[in-house]
Amino acid sequence: MTDANDQLQDLLNNNKRWAAETESREPGFFSRLLKQQTPQYLWIGCADSRVPANELVDLLPGELFVHRNVANVVVHSDLNCLSVMQFAVDHLKVRHIIVVGHSNCGGVKAALYDTRVGLVENWIRHVQDVRHMHREWLDTVPEARRVDALCELNVLEQARNACHTTVVRDAWARGQEIVVHGWVYGLHNGLLEDLAVTAASAADVDPAYRQALAAVKQRYAAG
Ligand SMILES: [Zn+2]
Repeated sequence: MTDANDQLQDLLNNNKRWAAETESREPGFFSRLLKQQTPQYLWIGCADSRVPANELVDLLPGELFVHRNVANVVVHSDLNCLSVMQFAVDHLKVRHIIVVGHSNCGGVKAALYDTRVGLVENWIRHVQDVRHMHREWLDTVPEARRVDALCELNVLEQARNACHTTVVRDAWARGQEIVVHGWVYGLHNGLLEDLAVTAASAADVDPAYRQALAAVKQRYAAG
């Protein structure tokens, strides 16, 4: 027990130091944030601890609105994700929604190999839907690269799902500027890559998806 308490005390001590350093670097930082947050971006990413949203893009508190779940899934019946999206779009007026997957994602791997992982299997069904949608092509991808290929396909599908939500469709219909993107993060090199599934209007969605899908398929072509 003592050890566990010591570890948590470390976190609280870290926090005190961080708050003091932040305030001394930028006096008034917290009192300004207290008044309002004006993030330009909504990040929808994986819950994996190796993919910390703010740090990867070097943004401060107040600059990035974040939603994370296992395998960065956007489902039309998930009130949690939809509520975050609606608040970000309707109230915070973010300009960009970025769906971010990552290489070697455990959730995607479980979906690919039908791993028994308990309750989360029900959530990962959504990634299995992606796998089934692209099953024939995935079978042609060399085994060693198949997880990463499905990670990228999953980003494309979830970004397209984001575009099809009532939140984004309504925003576009009323002329609000909002752009949906799909990125993938490399756990091995710390780099984000734009999968170019970028959509700034309803008309962009299908062509952007098709082009991005062709690019993924080319990158993972056998040989
Ligand atoms: Zn993951």
